[in-house]
Amino acid sequence: MTKIHILRTGSVWIKAAQVRARGTGLTRIYNGLFDRAWSPELPIFAYLIEHPEGLILVDTGETARAMNKGYYPFWHPYYHFSIRLNVRPDDEIGPQLRLAGFAPEDVKTVVLTHLHTDHAGGLAWFGKARVLVSQREFAAARGFAGRVAGYPNHRWPKDFTPELLQLPPVGANLMDASMPLTKDGTVRIIAAPGHTLGLMAVSVEIDGIMFLMAGDASYLEQTLLEGVPDGVGADPAAQLQTHARIRAMARRRPLVYLNGHDPDCPQRLQERRTMQVLE
Ligand SMILES: [Zn+2]
Repeated sequence: MTKIHILRTGSVWIKAAQVRARGTGLTRIYNGLFDRAWSPELPIFAYLIEHPEGLILVDTGETARAMNKGYYPFWHPYYHFSIRLNVRPDDEIGPQLRLAGFAPEDVKTVVLTHLHTDHAGGLAWFGKARVLVSQREFAAARGFAGRVAGYPNHRWPKDFTPELLQLPPVGANLMDASMPLTKDGTVRIIAAPGHTLGLMAVSVEIDGIMFLMAGDASYLEQTLLEGVPDGVGADPAAQLQTHARIRAMARRRPLVYLNGHDPDCPQRLQERRTMQVLE
């Protein structure tokens, strides 16, 4: 039987206008970085899929090393002005997996929804696993341009060579741009561009319900329901289309929305509370 475990690797605070965009164009980015108001404390989630074909981890959370001065590029304004973290060593994905009864070495496959630091920060725990990233995401995150774009890639494990996926192009239906991850077809990887251009979501079928682990497709389920992009994402128009595709899917069938930072995710998962789309 397949089961999903939610794992919390500490907390993050970002600007209120990063959670929910204010303005468009450069104003949106400016507010997303320099808004005076902070978000409430937001969890940093990763998900473990306990599947008959093996353990699949979706995202790796943040590392406690990120609390150290000098971990992020000192010249990048985002880390100075726009983010605060609380990740203790025990919050890291390794200890959190053990707390849930699993060993990090037993994780067969790691899917990174995207390469932002609070999703890829725990990679060092999974030296032996198969790591999947979209080709588009990896291309955007590499090199100096990647570091400017907000990917601290100098902190990737030295031997980081993920398997790069090329998903089909996005269409009207959410599942147009998807591919199976398991042989039984119950776990799929789906392109969900917008927050980053190469963002991937993972869907799991359990008892006729689709559990959608969507990374930062939206920071909150509410902003997805309202169709509000975030304040720092790469392509807000694409993000709104991704939101619309997910809402359309939730109208057709029961869908539980799980993402990287929505504080309601543990309860939604536990209660199997499905997305309610009004309109
Ligand atoms: Zn992100």
